[in-house]
Amino acid sequence: MSKTIRTRMAPSPTGELHVGSMAMLLKNYAWAKRNNGQFILRIEDTDKEREVPGAIEEIKKVIRDYGLDWDEGPGKGGPYGSYIQSERLSIYQEKAQELIDNGKAYYCFCSKERLEQVREEQRANKQAPKYDKHCRILTADEALARKEAGESWVIRLKVPEDQPVVINDLLRGEIIINSSEVDDQVLLKSDGYPTYHLGVVVDDYLMQITHIMRGEEWISSAPKHVLLYEAFGWEKPVFAHIPVFLNPDGKGKMSKRKGTVSSRSFLDRGYLPEAMLNFFMILGWAKADQQEVISLAEYIEAFDPKDVSPKSVAFDLQKLNWMNGVYIRKLPLAELKKRLQPFIPETFPMNKFDAILPLVFERLVTLADIDELTRFFYVDEQPDYELLLKKADNQLVAKQLNQTMDFLSGLSEWTTEKIEVGMRELQEKNDWHRGQFFMMIRLAVTGRKATPPLFETMSVIGKDIVLRRLEMVKAKLEN
Ligand code: GLU
Repeated sequence: MSKTIRTRMAPSPTGELHVGSMAMLLKNYAWAKRNNGQFILRIEDTDKEREVPGAIEEIKKVIRDYGLDWDEGPGKGGPYGSYIQSERLSIYQEKAQELIDNGKAYYCFCSKERLEQVREEQRANKQAPKYDKHCRILTADEALARKEAGESWVIRLKVPEDQPVVINDLLRGEIIINSSEVDDQVLLKSDGYPTYHLGVVVDDYLMQITHIMRGEEWISSAPKHVLLYEAFGWEKPVFAHIPVFLNPDGKGKMSKRKGTVSSRSFLDRGYLPEAMLNFFMILGWAKADQQEVISLAEYIEAFDPKDVSPKSVAFDLQKLNWMNGVYIRKLPLAELKKRLQPFIPETFPMNKFDAILPLVFERLVTLADIDELTRFFYVDEQPDYELLLKKADNQLVAKQLNQTMDFLSGLSEWTTEKIEVGMRELQEKNDWHRGQFFMMIRLAVTGRKATPPLFETMSVIGKDIVLRRLEMVKAKLEN
């Protein structure tokens, strides 16, 4: 029987989850689901200095807010827990000891100052910074004696000399480097915490991870991991180092400096999680039929990490906006209303919501657009008077306003149809320039040049407000 496919995402709680991480998580999730396997969430919190309070909870929350979930992990448990590294310290200590006992690792007692001095010299000689293996020659007895004397120590990997290290990457094929290029890296720190390298390898092994999909920035760590698997005598998982997103302009790795990058921030700006997921799906991967609008279920059925492009792709905001629009317009009205709630200002006249929504619905790019698109329905906005007087003078416009107000105030039934019929009659009877007249009214009633259809808009805004606004404009003209 073949092995159960198990994938994982292993974020460090150093802040909010980057969109790149969410995209990676989706791939790991989909591959596990496709194979009826398990997707594991593991928190790599071994760098206590960089940890941000509350980050673990936020990571868990945002994954679920994106509509995804894990099979094993914090809050859920599972057969290989704990899934939080700081709760597994004794395991790493044991494993590091195992390597010491097998002669694959050694104690190092070098002081910070000494290490700094070595690095200084290497820098001066233009060499890559690396530990000079000073403590590698200590005998077991010597090391023990120094430990017992209370000297501070770390454990380092005894990297074999001059051997090929082969990394099999699903996207790039075989990458071979010489072990002499690899540092005798620290595995266990003086405070008893593992380094990332030890933690990740031990956990991926113990948690029986079969496929590691992670950002290509980790590819330089892969030789260290391969050497560790070999030192332990463990079977290696499949590695796929996935290109990271470039900034929307296609230049450089997507970073905070060029705008928001956290997964949460996109939801806060009114992107739908399902649109975000679909967008992630098609960045650097395509369905065989080139279809771009893909459901999560369809993606799970089709995704294979080996088909991911090894080339970086830009985080194309235009495409995302388009995708978001597609998903907004797919939502049943009741659901859309629910999703819009957090974006609607408190002063919004909720009794008019059902009438307003159909008028602006088509123009929503993000949910947050609801505010800008609907504000004039209940907030008086000043028109641009220069525009309002275009192709007409004060006198004519005042006359048009007077007659319009007369007509509207006498209207017994305030419906789109009645407003339209009457106003068209008025325009024709007076032989007013059609474009001029209706644009003037639009500006006077809404303060804007572009709005949903005028008569419907007027009918939704309501008689009192429409008349009040027309009156205000007239008063202004007479001043
Ligand atoms: N803890 C690492 C991170 O924060 C995990 C990298 C990996 O997937 O190996 O991204």
